Formats: sequence, structure tokens, C-alpha cells
Amino acid sequence: MAKYNEAKTRRLRLARNAAVLAGAVLLLHTLAKRSGSGAALWAGALLADADVDDDSAAAYGGWGYALGAGAGGPGRRPLQPGELCGWETAVDSSAFDGVVEKEGWPTRFEQLVAESRALKPVFCPVCGASHQAIKFGGQNVREEGRCPKCSSFNRLRQIADAALPEARRMTGRDFKSLNELALTELAIYNTQCAGVLHNILQAAPGYVCSEFVSAELESGTVVKNNVRHEDLQRTSFKDNSFDLVLSTEMLSRVASPYQAHHEVQRILKPGGSHVFTAPFTPSEYHDGIRASVEEGRLVHHIEPPIYTGDRLHPKGVLLFNIFGRETVDKVCMMGFNVTVLRMHNGAHGIIGENAWVFVTTKPGGGVLQQP
Ligand SMILES: [Zn+2]
Repeated sequence: MAKYNEAKTRRLRLARNAAVLAGAVLLLHTLAKRSGSGAALWAGALLADADVDDDSAAAYGGWGYALGAGAGGPGRRPLQPGELCGWETAVDSSAFDGVVEKEGWPTRFEQLVAESRALKPVFCPVCGASHQAIKFGGQNVREEGRCPKCSSFNRLRQIADAALPEARRMTGRDFKSLNELALTELAIYNTQCAGVLHNILQAAPGYVCSEFVSAELESGTVVKNNVRHEDLQRTSFKDNSFDLVLSTEMLSRVASPYQAHHEVQRILKPGGSHVFTAPFTPSEYHDGIRASVEEGRLVHHIEPPIYTGDRLHPKGVLLFNIFGRETVDKVCMMGFNVTVLRMHNGAHGIIGENAWVFVTTKPGGGVLQQP
């Protein structure tokens, strides 16, 4: 195990050094293209902080991190023979401000955004609109920063930026936005039938969405307004149905999230990916189980129960779990190839400390070996 960790640390360090170099080159290239803009000034401020301390691999609660592989998007590392679980974090350095913090948060970039409460010009990877001026309130930046055109906010743009490289890997085609992705034949399942992602992706010919309507219903039941009920722990979909599954904060709302992961694994095609966000505390190893269902009875382990807003359920939906790092190991053990992305891309309106997106890919399909 120690040997594995040593190798992992060395690999992270190598990857980081290479990526910092690539990031700096990219930064200079982008600066040259953007000279004179406010964004370039911010990027210039960040450049001074670009040297990442080697010993900072263990920063953030013992959480090692590495930069992604530059313009090609975050790196994906296939599981090595004999390796139990391969995962590492990556920051998307495909933008001018793709620089990892040196001494924690907020970064210089975030400080500048906090002062100005705005980002401009932003390209929206959800709708594809460019030169957007995006405002942040500073309360919870993860849920802020609406795109004036499609209303996407920070977290949804994170999902888009994580999903687009997956679509590229699957199709060999480049997609700049989910709007472009909606023109493909990819079979996409969204665990929501409302919201910005739904509005954009519903144009896709292979798009399917569902809602959790009621525990009384069988999965696959279509209720009023043509909404399909699915319980993510036991859906009605056939094996190997989807190229891409998207879920936002859904796994915290099911009693058995790992059963849901098993189910997603069943309905994904080989080589298909589940791209999702979920409440996540990277400083904790163990999942924070706030509630569970034991022998058919709801049990609250942590009081008071937290209910999250939901348009179909006026009282809110119970938050069962806030995930720790073990979630990555557990999902790996199921056989998924897992990438945890810590996104940071000011040019796409993606900022903040909690920009974590998970990508779990079902092995097979002959596509995982591609960079
Ligand atoms: Zn947009």
C-alpha cells in the first residue's frame, strides 16, 4: 500500500509539473490572444502565483491534486493491471486562469471576482453563448453566476465542461457546448425533466429524462404532463441503454446511493459515463450518512434532517448523504473508472472552491484507452 502511495505521489508530482508547464504555456498563448481585456489582467495577476509547491500535493486535508492535461481536457487514467482503484483529481487547465491555488482558497482569481462581483467575457459551455457578462452575488458561488442567455449557473457549467470531453471521447468529435451536443445521436439520460440542462438537451434525438415522482409508483410509469417516474436505485431501462447519464445532486437524495451507482452501471453502455455532482466533503474520508432506510423504516442518524428544494415536492427532498472521499473508492470497487474533477475555468464562468464533478465510466467499449 505504501509503495502504491509512493508511486501515486510521484505520478501526481510528475503530472503536476508537466501540467503547470503546459498551463503556463497555454496561459501565455491565451494572454497573447486576449491582451487588453479585463480577463487578461486577472490572468496576469494569477501568473505570478503559478509556481505550485511540490509539497502541496497533500494540501486540502491530505487530498492530493494534479492539474489536468491542458487543452485536451482533464486527463483520464485507465486502471493499471493489478490496481484496485485508480483515481486522481484534476483541475481543468484549459482556460487562461487554470492555475491551482498555492495557499488555499480563495485564490487570487476568486478574490478579484469577489471584488468585482462579475466575470467577463465568459463563454457558456451549456448554451454556447460567448462574451457573456456573468454576475456573482458572493453568497454561494457554486449556485450563482447566471448566464444571461440560458440561465445556467456555475455548477451546471461544471457539469457541461466535464461532460463534453466524454462526448468527444465517445464520438471523436469536438463539442463546445451542450447545445452542440444536442445535435448528436448519443443516448443521454438526465435524471431531471426540468431546468437548464433539460431545456438544452431535450432537443437531442437520443434524450430521455425522468423525475422521482413518488415511492408508490413503479419505475417507468408515465404520469401527468408526460413525466416519466424513475427510481435511480431500480430504473425501468434496459441494460446498456445510455452513452451519457447526467445527474445533479441526485445521489444525495436516494437512500442507497451505491445501489443507484450499480443501477447506473447496468444501464450505461460499455464506455459510457455518468457525469454528476453531489454534496461532497473532500476533507472527510467517510460518507456522512444523515439518514437511511433500515428494514423499510426511515432512520435519521444526524439531526436535524435537511430537506433540499424540489419543484415536484413542496416540502423538499430529504438529504440522505453528504459524500466523503470513500465514495470514490467504493465506486471504483464496483468496476467504474472514476475521475474526480476539481473544475476551475474563469473563461467559462466556473470558479470557487467546491467545483467538484465526478465522472464514472463503465469499462469496455474500446474507448477508455484514448487520452
Ligand atoms: Zn448559457
